[in-house]
Amino acid sequence: MVKWMEENSAMQFKPVPLPDYHPTTEGVSIGRTLLTEEYDGRHLGPRIKDVRYVLQGLSVFGSMQADPSELAYLTKPFTSFNNLSKCVHKLGRYAVDLLLYGKGVMMANGNALVGRLLHTCISENVELWKDSPAVRTILEDEKITGLLVSKGGEQNVKLGARKGVVLATGGFGRSIEAQNFSPHIWSAQPRANVGDGKRMGFESGAIFPPQNPINGILAPISLLHLKDQVRRYPHFAIDRSKPGSIIVGPNGRRFANESGPYQEFVSILHQRDIKEAWFIGDKTFLRKYGMGMALPWPYPKWRLLRQGYLVKASTISSLAEKINVPQSALEKTVGECNANARKGIDPDFGRGGNIYDNFYGDPTVKPNPNMGQCVEPPFYAVKIHPGDVSTTWGMMVNEDAQALDSAGNPIQGLYAVGNDQNSVMRGQYPGGGSSIGPGMTFGYRAGMHLAGKTL
Ligand SMILES: Cc1cc2nc3c(=O)[nH]c(=O)nc-3n(C[C@H](O)[C@H](O)[C@H](O)COP(=O)(O)OP(=O)(O)OC[C@H]3O[C@@H](n4cnc5c(N)ncnc54)[C@H](O)[C@@H]3O)c2cc1C
Repeated sequence: MVKWMEENSAMQFKPVPLPDYHPTTEGVSIGRTLLTEEYDGRHLGPRIKDVRYVLQGLSVFGSMQADPSELAYLTKPFTSFNNLSKCVHKLGRYAVDLLLYGKGVMMANGNALVGRLLHTCISENVELWKDSPAVRTILEDEKITGLLVSKGGEQNVKLGARKGVVLATGGFGRSIEAQNFSPHIWSAQPRANVGDGKRMGFESGAIFPPQNPINGILAPISLLHLKDQVRRYPHFAIDRSKPGSIIVGPNGRRFANESGPYQEFVSILHQRDIKEAWFIGDKTFLRKYGMGMALPWPYPKWRLLRQGYLVKASTISSLAEKINVPQSALEKTVGECNANARKGIDPDFGRGGNIYDNFYGDPTVKPNPNMGQCVEPPFYAVKIHPGDVSTTWGMMVNEDAQALDSAGNPIQGLYAVGNDQNSVMRGQYPGGGSSIGPGMTFGYRAGMHLAGKTL
């Protein structure tokens, strides 16, 4: 798939030396993950306006995106002339983009993937319809032959399909049903992913397996409440994993390895029924690594403090009072963590004891790149919740992404990919790209099958 995409589309990937997330599992490896190369959205011409904004909170100054390779200079602008000049160049480009397009158009990560796919569709003259949700599949002679679409205020616009229909509506993370798994407010999933594909598949006779052990891709989420919107920040690893952070529950005590994979970290929150936890760091931590939407120095923090996203106090005891956790418990936790950090050993949760933890740690910190002291006032806290970024429960399909009926036979003309298809990992998340990787692979296989090509 990767080779084919690079040869036949605008997609360009680059490897990331990220270890698999469970380093003690048999067959574990490093560097399976691919990241999309940055993409200059100016190539999309006027269609750049059709690409959604990157999740607010994951961008800087509103909509400036950054590739992980840029973090080295963006987080340390004043450490060398080279870093400073790259920052100035990046900011200059962003300012021009804002004037011309109203947003940053140098696309990175998932947004670059979208940009490159859209670029390919435009160059291949694929007709794209916006704001035109598919409503129902058309079933004729036991074959799916098209879709009914709502378009421009007109209901039931008929769209014929010579070969078939691929359901790819992103799962059901914003449906009412999904609230059984976690409230929408803690979900960073796109608002339109309300389970239309799941419903259309069900109505077409597709079957669903028993629910997965985990039905979502889970991530700790912090929220910034603004007058007219809520911004969400998924704390995947980049801040949470750094040395000097501590995450405590409402009782002021740690409950997990802060540097552990997000799926497992949030599963522990669920197991312990913790709805609110506190991500804590000191002045040095915030300045060096940032905490969620509060970016490292020199990015300003005053607004986030005023908005209540970031809580600040001069002592651990007064921080405990402000965040409403028992003072003595929090002081005890911080004291223990500081003593453990000096030794570099976390006897309770084994933090920093494997290559996955270390990947997101700070290699300059010894003896444990994931453990540091929290001693320098003022102290800060950010509230986090057990959130999610995807659902994983979907239709049963075969190796070509054809949806299966209750007898296990493919439904002619019906395919399901992405989150509309049941997770091939059954909801586990063994490494970076465990959702988009299978999504693209089965999308590719569905495309080849539709084109009558055997793989
Ligand atoms: C912040 C964040 C970071 C992530 N990072 C990673 C990562 O690093 N690696 C990884 O593998 N996964 C990651 N994920 C998860 C991943 O992005 C999703 O699982 C993946 O995009 C799902 O792909 P999809 O095609 O199924 O759905 P989506 O990409 O959500 O696309 C579905 C589309 O269908 C549209 N739609 C919905 N209903 C209809 C309808 N009735 N008719 C027509 N269109 C409809 C929606 O508007 C949406 O545009 C991340 C998610 C988030 C939120």
